Amino acid sequence: MRILIDMDDVMADAVERFFDWYERDFGVRYTKADIYGKKLYDIVPDANKPIVKSYAHQPGFFKDLPVIDHAKETIEKLNKLHEIYIVSAAMEFKYSFTDKYEWLDEHFPFIHWKNRIFCGNKHLVKGDVLIDDHDFNLSTFPGRAIVFSSPHNMLLTGYERMNGWQEAKLFFDDLE
Ligand SMILES: [Mg+2]
Repeated sequence: MRILIDMDDVMADAVERFFDWYERDFGVRYTKADIYGKKLYDIVPDANKPIVKSYAHQPGFFKDLPVIDHAKETIEKLNKLHEIYIVSAAMEFKYSFTDKYEWLDEHFPFIHWKNRIFCGNKHLVKGDVLIDDHDFNLSTFPGRAIVFSSPHNMLLTGYERMNGWQEAKLFFDDLE
């Protein structure tokens, strides 16, 4: 099976970086419970929204992001059983490429460069399974589309849902 895996908020915890930078700039710390079904952008005062929107476009945003729980060991096991491709829409954020590449080298060195796809629109990338947190990527995917739970997508329906990598064995029978 060819399994396509998104990076941000599937492997790397970008949500926490938003909270970190918001606290740095505005002195308020939000938690994931505060943004159930929403993005941080949606709940901050209007005056602060442009700053929040700019975060992912700034150098360093994607550097040293925390690894999502159990992503490393689970994807390493899947990588031995299936053809794994990491598919990230890195082109949206011009400073993200090196950070994302080095992050994979550090935490997922077993993902060969030939299996790293940094792209614009994901609908050109074909596979059997896509694990992603965004409806706009899942909705155009012709294979098995699995939504990976993240605060912003908790109200999204119409897909199989993986609530963390500890549930991966429910989706892949050959996974121990
Ligand atoms: Mg994502």
